[in-house]
Amino acid sequence: MQRIVILGSTGSIGVQALEVIAANPGRFEVVAISAGSGNLTLLHDQAEKFQVKAVGTTADSFDCSAKVFTGVHASTEIAAMECDVVLNGITGSIGLGPTLAALDAGNLVALANKESLVAGGDLVMNKGRGRIIPVDSEHSAIYQAMLAGKKDEVSQLILTASGGAFRDREDLEGVTVAEALNHPTWSMGPVVTINSATLVNKGLEIIEAHYLFDIPYSQIDAVIHPQSVIHSMVEYVDGSTIAQLSPPNMKGPIAYALSHPHRTIGATKPVDWSQSHSWDFRPIDQSRFPSISLARTAGESGALATATFNAANEVAVDAFVNVEIAFTQIVPVIERTLAASGAHGEPRDLADVLAIEQTARTLAAESVAALKRERS
Ligand code: MG
Repeated sequence: MQRIVILGSTGSIGVQALEVIAANPGRFEVVAISAGSGNLTLLHDQAEKFQVKAVGTTADSFDCSAKVFTGVHASTEIAAMECDVVLNGITGSIGLGPTLAALDAGNLVALANKESLVAGGDLVMNKGRGRIIPVDSEHSAIYQAMLAGKKDEVSQLILTASGGAFRDREDLEGVTVAEALNHPTWSMGPVVTINSATLVNKGLEIIEAHYLFDIPYSQIDAVIHPQSVIHSMVEYVDGSTIAQLSPPNMKGPIAYALSHPHRTIGATKPVDWSQSHSWDFRPIDQSRFPSISLARTAGESGALATATFNAANEVAVDAFVNVEIAFTQIVPVIERTLAASGAHGEPRDLADVLAIEQTARTLAAESVAALKRERS
């Protein structure tokens, strides 16, 4: 039995992880779960159904038969519980503290929270090298493809991108919130969906890949692949490219990370080779999607800069969803924030990350306010 702790259990990743676990009786035991305060009814139902030992929530109070942790540090306490794998499905850089706590406690981490690496960088990898199994579909693919050769034989990592809601739209000036929330392939949370539309998500994933696999930014690229069947690729020095593919379904990478080094039977449907398929690839239009090169530039300056990139994006996405700035102003807010903060280097501890994020949020909010003034 794999003993599993799930952070962010009521979110998209958490719910699907519990479905994988329920579909495989006798293989997994859910030790504990945690979530924010957004869906306490679901959290309660999950706690009862899986008979968990402990539940964490940011809510002030919560009533159930398990041991309850409440408040802002609930997920961090749950992450340090004795188990085999902690699945971190929290969205946003608030997932960093729990990732560090899980690693400090000696737990393996199935990481769906990309912000842990984007904001934590070497701070996380110095503790976590060899003990983090990625859940992000692209990184799960690269992780699997990396098993085909040696790290010093890798010439390039190629992340695939669905291209988001606007891959075929030329003019992005008048994009509405509803349009940006309508993702063509994946069903995900709202922030991730907007990040997918701006391709900021792909920028974050390039940064995530850099830290996870210890490959220089100059050897990590992304390509548009609208069908999202090939989840990413590793190119080796002999010109051979290893890809991992399956019809898009997050249960594949979730199950792979939870049962690593084994595979879970029937975790996801394979490609149906009795049917015809066409899979397209095209380069990313850097002028319509400046987020990729901006993420790379931030990446070259270290995790204090990428933490700034991420925090500024969170502020900008929030401003866009509240109709304060235009869709095309999200990336300029990040760019202005990076320039104003001058952040560079790696964080020494969590306090360094929290401080640089606070600075970034203040600067990003000023940038949003300036853009609003320009618009009115
Ligand atoms: Mg992804």
